[in-house]
Amino acid sequence: MSITKIPVGILGATGMVGQRFIQLLENHPWFEVAWLAASDRSSGKSYAEAAKWRMRTAIPKKVAKLKVSAASPEGAPKVIFAALDSDIARELEPQFAEAGCAVISNSSAYRMDPSVPLVIPEVNPEHLKLIETQTWWKKSKGFMVTNSNCSIMGLTIALAPLQKAFGLESVFAVTMQAVSGAGYPGVASLDILGNVIPFIKNEEEKMQEEAHKLLGRLKGKQVEMAHFGMSAHCNRVPVEDGHTESISVKLRKKASAEKIIAAWREFRGSSEVARLPHAPAEPIFYDERPDRPQPRFDVDRGKGMTTTVGRLRPCSLLDWKFTVLSHNTIRGAAGAAVLNAELLKVRGYLG
Ligand code: NAP
Repeated sequence: MSITKIPVGILGATGMVGQRFIQLLENHPWFEVAWLAASDRSSGKSYAEAAKWRMRTAIPKKVAKLKVSAASPEGAPKVIFAALDSDIARELEPQFAEAGCAVISNSSAYRMDPSVPLVIPEVNPEHLKLIETQTWWKKSKGFMVTNSNCSIMGLTIALAPLQKAFGLESVFAVTMQAVSGAGYPGVASLDILGNVIPFIKNEEEKMQEEAHKLLGRLKGKQVEMAHFGMSAHCNRVPVEDGHTESISVKLRKKASAEKIIAAWREFRGSSEVARLPHAPAEPIFYDERPDRPQPRFDVDRGKGMTTTVGRLRPCSLLDWKFTVLSHNTIRGAAGAAVLNAELLKVRGYLG
């Protein structure tokens, strides 16, 4: 192992998001995968044996040979990317934070905890300060940071410049969510082929509450939630990767189409964030074509980290409507967590 890189571990390494972490961290300039853990079903096996690899690139050779450990902090490195189901995360993640680990989590278990930052580096990097209010941090310099649900990620990125320039009054969202968002093996093929499932457990609630925290302001030691109305309808569709969303918004100030598109095109994270290895050059790409974005053609834009927006037009109920597309396991999961970790490193939280 290179001595200059930070060794990192992956909890839930065999799942859809865990596999994406391994793919994205191959040749990362700062981090090196040194430890993997999953359930008892997998522990003790080599990673190649334990994981049903579903990425389109090969398993990195070094990772294929790594032994999958039990999901316990003993012997784990101090930086942990977590991709566990939320009921398991609720029990295990605090054990790692308690043991002095930086836990960078994808699960919903602690996203809404008032002391846990829910962060998108281009949108609300200042929320990372909440780390310093965590008991784990005070005791052992361990902490927990989360990224959002995959269905609210791209939408929040598209809403952030609108909130800043015009203010948000209400948001209406209808999602068409990819099957990879349900993990592996996920939804049975007989349930989803040629079908649409108009129900994803807890997803509408998560979208609504997380949007308000992500777009909220840090005031002292807490986040003041953003105030706007929001209603989400979530659907599972037979698409492999990429959540597509039809959105209508009511804005607090009048805005023209030109100004809205300019706000999207000019949207950038701070210069600190823009320099991070996983930061896309353009967080938002506005596509002028009338029939885009489409997941098959647009989901990999910016290596899966760019949110594609299109079809801006007047809405006869609210003010404006448009379409958003975001890669659910990259921008909406592993890529988001890697970007959070990069920001944590440059801010000195990773030791
Ligand atoms: P998944 O494919 O079902 O993978 C779950 C992982 O958790 C597997 O590695 C599994 O290991 C491990 N696991 C299960 N029970 C365990 C236990 N008792 N102890 C330790 N490890 C255990 O799920 P996923 O899609 O990767 O999602 C992981 C998390 O990320 C979830 O909280 C999900 O909501 C969130 N998320 C997913 C997406 C997405 O697009 N998929 C996006 C954003 C957030 P075994 O293989 O050994 O069973």
